[in-house]
Amino acid sequence: MSQNAIETIVIVGAGQAGASAILELRANKYEGKIILVGDETHLPYERPPLSKDVILKPEETKIEILSEQKLADLGVETIRGNGVVKINSDAKTIELKNGDIVAYDKLLLATGGAARRLPNFDALGKHVYTLRNLEDSQALVPVLQAGRRLILIGGGVIGLELASSARYKDCQVTVIEMGPMVMGRSSPRVLSEFLLAQQRLAGVDVRLSTAIADCKLDGEEVVVTLEGGEELRADAVVYGIGIVPNMQLAADAGLDVDCAIKVNENCQTSNADIYAAGDVATQLRDCGNHRRVETWENANLQAGIFARHVMGVEHPTPNPAWFWTDQLNINYQFVGDMAAEQWVARGDVNAEQRADSSFVLFGVSNDIIVGGITVNAAKEMRHLKKLISKNAAFEADKYLDLSQDLRKLVK
Ligand code: FAD
Ligand code: NAP
Repeated sequence: MSQNAIETIVIVGAGQAGASAILELRANKYEGKIILVGDETHLPYERPPLSKDVILKPEETKIEILSEQKLADLGVETIRGNGVVKINSDAKTIELKNGDIVAYDKLLLATGGAARRLPNFDALGKHVYTLRNLEDSQALVPVLQAGRRLILIGGGVIGLELASSARYKDCQVTVIEMGPMVMGRSSPRVLSEFLLAQQRLAGVDVRLSTAIADCKLDGEEVVVTLEGGEELRADAVVYGIGIVPNMQLAADAGLDVDCAIKVNENCQTSNADIYAAGDVATQLRDCGNHRRVETWENANLQAGIFARHVMGVEHPTPNPAWFWTDQLNINYQFVGDMAAEQWVARGDVNAEQRADSSFVLFGVSNDIIVGGITVNAAKEMRHLKKLISKNAAFEADKYLDLSQDLRKLVK
């Protein structure tokens, strides 16, 4: 089918990738019908503030990506609070929870993920929380009160960002991480150690390589027993131990899935009329393997790839992958390969300093700059992106010399 014959594009999932796909389709001159179907009752909103400003400044924080007016201006038909329960790929239709059938020419699955569950904690019935959507975040506002004892299970991004928000609120915070490092999935050791030191300086009790043996309620307290026997008591527990992609629809429709929905370089699934983007997609990478990337930027990037492919427009070469986290007044940004062979610092990685630390880390493999991290040095990020994009050779005397302006070294 030529792109001119596409009359209806249906987007399932009114989140980051879904909203971005709408903007990208219209920017690439798609004039047909767009139907956005979301199971949440909200219009598309940003998730990054959910662990930070929505908790700390709920009144003044705006998270909406597309307003009702903007969606109307873009000519989008929006269905809310009515998720998709089935795809019929032969008939090219989807079925909604209320039984309605909607036809598509092209379908985008942008269904994101759900918090991975810990059934023994869920079974406690109260004082246990997870964080994925707006309601989850709003539920934490009354929980994070001064003096409250909070246990955070998982030392990933949710655990550390919530620890930071909870310390602003003067909670007593313990983080329990099973692995030997915080943010071990997304950060090299040198930065993980810095993150850990910052949390501990801020008064967070971080337990690494720590497994939980049991949990129970004792009145209004949650009692968590660690392997080894120590008992921790808290007013509330929040766990953030990763996500499970919302891919059941795709699996039931017979699409090729493994840890997520498999897509090619154009974000097409094993059915050429069905695409997937964002946290729910695992994409074929240059290395020949499929990988899932759970970031705000990736959701926007893949939505753009989908829109351009549908419209027959070539994709620009993407920048190296980028994400950020804000913790304890420190802005961290990451770009490129976090598994680089070695990491070298430009500036002083002094973990004893508080939020005024500022430095850059270069990730180097085979003498080439493949990754970069800025710590309170956001203005250097675009230079790192350029160096990685052009496979620049790492020259320590140039790049580690603070008297040299990075901007001028990147030609
Ligand atoms: P989502 O934004 O989750 O949207 C998916 C939507 O699909 C949801 O509304 C879901 O309810 C809906 N849906 C699911 N199933 C169906 C169905 N069957 N029918 C209809 N609708 C359905 N990334 C960063 O880079 N930096 C950050 O600082 C950062 N902070 C974060 C903080 C928090 C608390 C969270 C949860 C995530 C954060 N992220 C951050 C990650 C980033 O928000 C996600 O990678 C991004 O939202 C993924 O976009 P998505 O569209 O794939 O999924
Ligand atoms: P995550 O970053 O994958 O971290 C989960 C952590 O929990 C990992 O360190 C994991 O260790 C650990 N863990 C797993 N099972 C455990 C257990 N039973 N007990 C103790 N620790 C356990 O996931 P997340 O923090 O839950 O975040 C969820 C999603 O939100 C992700 O998609 C994330 O990208 C997104 N998010 C992003 C940001 C950001 O980018 N700034 C901020 C917030 C949320 P192992 O690795 O050893 O399994």
